[in-house]
Amino acid sequence: MTRVADALASLVDALPAGVVTSHHGEVAVRAHDRWALAMLRDLQGDRVPPPSAVAFPRSAQDVSTVLAWATETRTPVVVRGAGTGRAGGAQSLAGCVLLDMTRMNRILSVDDVSQTIRAEAGARLGDLETAASARGMWLGARSDGTAGSTLGGAIARGEPLDGGSPMRERILAITVTLSDGRVLGARSERTSAGWPDASALIAAFEGGAGVIVEATASLSREPTGVVWDVFRPHSFDAGSALVREISQRPFRPLVLRLFDPGAAGMAFDGFGEGHRPLLMVAGDTGAPGVEAERFELRELAKSFGARHIGQELGEHWWAHRGDEAAWLDAVMGAERALGDGVVADVFVAAVTWRRLVRTYDEVRGALLEYAERVGCRLEAPRPSLAALAFPFVVRASDDRDARDRYLAAWDSATRAASAAGARPVGEVGLRSLGWVRQLTDPDARSIALSVKAALDPGAIMNPGKVVPSPQEGDS
Ligand SMILES: Cc1cc2nc3c(=O)[nH]c(=O)nc-3n(C[C@H](O)[C@H](O)[C@H](O)COP(=O)(O)OP(=O)(O)OC[C@H]3O[C@@H](n4cnc5c(N)ncnc54)[C@H](O)[C@@H]3O)c2cc1C
Repeated sequence: MTRVADALASLVDALPAGVVTSHHGEVAVRAHDRWALAMLRDLQGDRVPPPSAVAFPRSAQDVSTVLAWATETRTPVVVRGAGTGRAGGAQSLAGCVLLDMTRMNRILSVDDVSQTIRAEAGARLGDLETAASARGMWLGARSDGTAGSTLGGAIARGEPLDGGSPMRERILAITVTLSDGRVLGARSERTSAGWPDASALIAAFEGGAGVIVEATASLSREPTGVVWDVFRPHSFDAGSALVREISQRPFRPLVLRLFDPGAAGMAFDGFGEGHRPLLMVAGDTGAPGVEAERFELRELAKSFGARHIGQELGEHWWAHRGDEAAWLDAVMGAERALGDGVVADVFVAAVTWRRLVRTYDEVRGALLEYAERVGCRLEAPRPSLAALAFPFVVRASDDRDARDRYLAAWDSATRAASAAGARPVGEVGLRSLGWVRQLTDPDARSIALSVKAALDPGAIMNPGKVVPSPQEGDS
């Protein structure tokens, strides 16, 4: 037997039967997540190396066993939820053991007094929604096709939810397993005043500093019904000023989302959209004073020059909010819905309101240098900031050219966003390309490296993803 096979045999022995497998089919399908570049590599036959083995832990104890073994044998470990991430965070590394969390999927309790749900990290968001809904609660309006994503993956990625709260803000407690096998458990909701929240810090490393094994999330009351108001602002800038005003006043929209003409064309193909922006606002029909609030909203919109155009587009979008994820999969998967030589992705940046319009202009301009289609949505607005999501399509003569153009587009957009004072998000895989790292504040980078070294001294956890591995140096 080789050294790797010897080591794997010792892991198999240390765990209950069936937890570890090196079966070709099981490892091959977990080589990458839904990062556009990895899907493109697959199509070109240049496959991402699959893991040496996959572990399906059923308990925190199994996770500890795998991590302690990996530290001892110096084997890299990649943590994977459902693999729906689009940034290479769950992508396999040569010789790694991949920790697939989806069998730790129990929903442990739903508390309708505190409005919380406690579940293992591999539970799917769709299943959490079903369990919460049975008790008249929900996690908040999710805006896209993330029902299949896991709780742990959504926390690690900081998945944004409409209504303004990213997933991490809903998390009351997280239990994390560290690389030496210790379990850092928050046994009660955040009560340790005076100490930084270690579990939340670890979660932010996206599988690079610890494995989330369990979490408690805060729920809201499920809306009685969803009612829409759709407006037509005369420009994206005017629409964003209106969204800011709504977000900073005490309105309580369930969803508040602005589409520039390009994004409106992509989302409402078939409705003749694509020339003008659209603003969509959803309210809860059961909320006290909802009709008065809608009246105020329409008055406010009017004062910003935005015309009320009814409800239909909102209802359509709500019913089809998973379409973008399905469309990205259709373009980048075997189907190649837009043909060869095409890459589609979404560039996202978080930005404070003062810098938002400049960021929109600069990033859109940067992407348009390389992409044939670019749109922008303003989403997850909060009182001080919002996210700008730019779906874009790059077309080239063949897949190799498309890859180069895609990277150039991403490079240019990242630099434009950073220069405008925005923070690009969700680019874990691209950080491994070096130039993205150079844009990070050197002090922040050195602190992140120190925290990573303290929590993962053997550098076995998702090495080279969120921060560079020691072998690479801090390039
Ligand atoms: C419109 C749209 C936009 C999206 N934008 C992005 C984006 O910008 N970036 C992006 O990555 N995804 C994006 N997604 C994809 C996806 O919705 C989220 O990334 C999702 O929350 C990931 O969940 P998952 O369970 O599939 O995690 P995975 O894809 O399996 O993992 C995601 C990351 O979390 C880590 N992780 C997973 N589980 C754990 C755990 N238990 N403990 C510690 N770390 C863990 C992984 O190592 C990896 O780094 C988008 C989806 C849509 C529809």
